[in-house]
Parts: sequence; C-alpha cells; structure tokens
Amino acid sequence: MVDALAQVTGLSKGEVAATIRAIKSCVLCGKRPDMIGIVIPDNPEDFGANPGEPRTILYGICADCQATPGSAQCVEDKIIADMANERKKTV
Ligand SMILES: [Zn+2]
Repeated sequence: MVDALAQVTGLSKGEVAATIRAIKSCVLCGKRPDMIGIVIPDNPEDFGANPGEPRTILYGICADCQATPGSAQCVEDKIIADMANERKKTV
C-alpha cells in the first residue's frame, strides 16, 4: 500500500509511512480506521498548496463509513471544513 500511495502522491515511501502512522481515526466517525483513502482536490490551493502545485490528502476511514453511500462526498466536505477551521486558527 505504501508503494502505491507513494506513486500517487509523489511523496517518498518514508513520508507516506509517517503520514499513515499519523492517521489514528476515521475522518467521519473517529473510530479506528480500516483503510487509507486519498483526496486529490480540483483546487489544490484551497488545501494549502502553493499556486500550481498539486496536492494530495490522505485520510483514514473505517469499513462502516467506507460502505456508506455518498461517503466519498462526505469525506471531501469534512476535509474541506477541517482545512477551513485550521486556516482560521493560524491566520
Ligand atoms: Zn468511520
């Protein structure tokens, strides 16, 4: 899995492994994640990327949430909301 994610994200395997280790809970319900998902946003600058830079975001999700219809959209909305909150804190 690390190899595949490294290829998709352009990160080194070490960076991918560290990112996965840092993911401790499902992005939607907070339970232990069963898998790692990936978001590649259409507007990377909304996610803190420099102009013209691609951005990939890894997240944890549990099997229950993954199986819920529409979960992919929920995840994206949640991540966008979290990013917005993050920015409010730092600006
Ligand atoms: Zn969940």
